[in-house]
Amino acid sequence: MARSTLHPDSLLAHAGGGSDPQTGAVVPPIQPSTTFVRDENYELISSGHLYSRDDNDLFRKTEGLLAALEGAEDSRLFASGMAAIAAIMRTVRPGETILLQSGIYWGTTVFFRRNTERTGVRLVEVDATDLDALSAAISEHSPKLVFLEVPSNPFLKVADIRAAADLAKSCGATVCVDATAVTPLIMKPLALGADLVVHSATKALNGHSDVLGGVVSTSRKDSPDWTFIAQERHDAGAVIGSFEAWLLLRGLRTLALRVERMNANAQAFAAHFDAHPKVESVLYPGISSHIGHDLAKAQMTGGYGSLMSLLVKGSKADALKVTGALNLFQRATSLGGVESLVEHRETIEGPNSGIPGTLLRLSIGIEHIDDLISDMEQALAAF
Ligand code: PLP
Repeated sequence: MARSTLHPDSLLAHAGGGSDPQTGAVVPPIQPSTTFVRDENYELISSGHLYSRDDNDLFRKTEGLLAALEGAEDSRLFASGMAAIAAIMRTVRPGETILLQSGIYWGTTVFFRRNTERTGVRLVEVDATDLDALSAAISEHSPKLVFLEVPSNPFLKVADIRAAADLAKSCGATVCVDATAVTPLIMKPLALGADLVVHSATKALNGHSDVLGGVVSTSRKDSPDWTFIAQERHDAGAVIGSFEAWLLLRGLRTLALRVERMNANAQAFAAHFDAHPKVESVLYPGISSHIGHDLAKAQMTGGYGSLMSLLVKGSKADALKVTGALNLFQRATSLGGVESLVEHRETIEGPNSGIPGTLLRLSIGIEHIDDLISDMEQALAAF
């Protein structure tokens, strides 16, 4: 069957395998060589194999797969999600403006703030889920880049990607969406009009909390932004390691199954705790009480992901007590792994991050849903 007609689940299950005619290996080999020999006429023995900052077959296989999942023309792997975001940020020149969604992953916000301060790029932060505010900011600042995170971490806010892309057209801005929290199986920002989509592959794409990686994909391979980003990866060298690329490809083989279970677990978990007497609210786009639910339903076609936040009806001390009483959820930062994690986000990001002390961010894994619910039930009884 032609690969282009296969469902994503089937492409993923066979990721990178079965294509080596010499060995017939079902699993692709790791390619650790950093350099490649030339013949006596100084021609490359194999064209496309010069030096491993770009020329790694595992990168290419993984990038091809990720581009297919995103409906992208091209993809590039990076050493981490932040390395990928940094390359995107550097498409903007001094004197130009970046419009950054406010209330997103604190690491991204801090990175944009620190870097624009030094480089003479103007930074404007706006609540991109407020279309009037977004429209006014685009008209006033004519940004070069509009950077969204959908859904946002840790508030799970849902910006309207299609509307943002339409507004951005008025000034020719590039729209980039960080869709880390949902994976391309759930939402495809390029199909909604975004120019670039970025993921921290450290999260659900790999799914096993054992790889740092990032990926950027484009809707237009011939765009100046893409030429810059591809060149930047080569020049600045924020390249993923060979072994990490192999682990990522291996992790991707089970992505469809993991997403299916994590979606179902997260949905049931959110619905269960939404009306809990010790819970102020559950922030999860899959439940109808969530402010962005209708938009999420329109934009996310494969569920709502595994990230959610829970606001405890109590104090910061109570929220911390709950984290301390959890037995199955592990107290650790990050998201998208097979194991469920809980994070007291304000402790990690600090009091200036604007994250309430009562907020617990949860990454829901693939455990049995009854165990997850009973673990949280008994922990909430701790205050
Ligand atoms: N984007 C989002 C939404 C994230 O949550 C994170 C990390 O938590 C990143 C980007 C950065 O990814 P990495 O840790 O792979 O650099």
